[in-house]
Amino acid sequence: MAKVLCVLYDDPIDGYPKTYARDGLPVLNGYPGGQTLPTPSAIDFTPGELLGSVSGELGLRAFLEGLGHGLVVTSDKEGPDSEFDRHLADAEVVISQPFWPAYLTAERIEKAPNLKLALTAGIGSDHVDLDAAIAHGVTVAEVTFCNSISVAEHVVMMILSLVRNYLPSHEWVRRGGWNIADSVARSYDLEGMDVGTVAAGRIGLAVLRRLAPFDVRLHYTDRHRLPAAVEEELGLTFHASTQDMVPHCDVVTINAPLHPETQGLFGDELLGTMRRGAYLINTARALITDRDAIVRALESGQLAGYAGDVWYPQPAPSDHPWRTMPHQGMTPHISGSSLSAQARYAAGTREILESYFAAAPIRDEYLIVDAGKLAGTGAHSYSTRS
Ligand code: NDP
Repeated sequence: MAKVLCVLYDDPIDGYPKTYARDGLPVLNGYPGGQTLPTPSAIDFTPGELLGSVSGELGLRAFLEGLGHGLVVTSDKEGPDSEFDRHLADAEVVISQPFWPAYLTAERIEKAPNLKLALTAGIGSDHVDLDAAIAHGVTVAEVTFCNSISVAEHVVMMILSLVRNYLPSHEWVRRGGWNIADSVARSYDLEGMDVGTVAAGRIGLAVLRRLAPFDVRLHYTDRHRLPAAVEEELGLTFHASTQDMVPHCDVVTINAPLHPETQGLFGDELLGTMRRGAYLINTARALITDRDAIVRALESGQLAGYAGDVWYPQPAPSDHPWRTMPHQGMTPHISGSSLSAQARYAAGTREILESYFAAAPIRDEYLIVDAGKLAGTGAHSYSTRS
């Protein structure tokens, strides 16, 4: 029987919730564009519960133990003495989340001879060394679309929050002040600005759609161009590369996966070509930017603001410079882990496990690596080093 090793973030500091702010979740009928929601044969959790933390166990225990498999759930993932490393040696399936990633490096994959499936309970499998997975015949799958809209909503929130100077203004209220001039001296309207997305995949296109009613000019770059009808409907300007696009934008949002083509893209050079006082929102992956170049651009005023929820490494150390740099609206990695998203990625994780244990094909749209090569969504959106 298989050992399933699942790495999740810690429970809340005041304990696993006994009650929730709302009763249940809205029922969705599908994803935009027609992809179906996860279709497991059953679920053993109540949508709206906290599933992504250790005690939530993604709602998987009854299902896996019912099939006779072992489930180990831990948040202890760093270093050779971690519970993760100890169990990795004989694990067949590793489940991890981008919010609290168990980095499956080439060295770790080397030490996991039984590993067959690396499953991302979310989207973005860059915490897995894909070249090593390919070399060792490990299948990599993720729950495509499960939290794309969650992130798109977060991006819109962060754009408005930066441009309108929301967080510093809120802080004056908390401090007992009524400092209107202090609050508005950095506050603008989004209306009339040029907004561009690096990548117009599931998240990027959802961001464009959500921003269209704000009367902004919309730009995008991507490896594949959107259908002409979509460009026309949203009034999009296509640019052949990120380098071509960013000088035309007041706001740039990054929505591409982290892979060799995008790593380190936003360094001093590219940031220097942006409009002075541009805003940069990154909910994709931290390593698409150069950490210290972001700090320099905020300090010099080249960037008026930076916001996002992705860091490297995760969890970010307490002295990470993005915690204290000026004009930022950083959060921990939360945009794709709302309670709404958790219900979808827990169901999608179960769907993938049901397929895997039944030796049935995993949905093509969930695949990143399979049979020794990039596959499915991975073949479309990722690249490898070799
Ligand atoms: P999709 O696969 O739908 O979209 C990714 C898009 O990026 C594709 O259109 C792809 O192009 C494009 N792309 C890839 N490489 C480049 C490049 N070099 N230049 C321009 N475009 C490129 O994924 P999602 O939109 O759902 O998610 C995108 C990323 O967002 C994830 O990979 C993940 O890293 C991050 N994410 C973050 C979350 C969070 O909680 N903060 C949650 C979910 C995702 P094409 O396919 O046309 O080749």
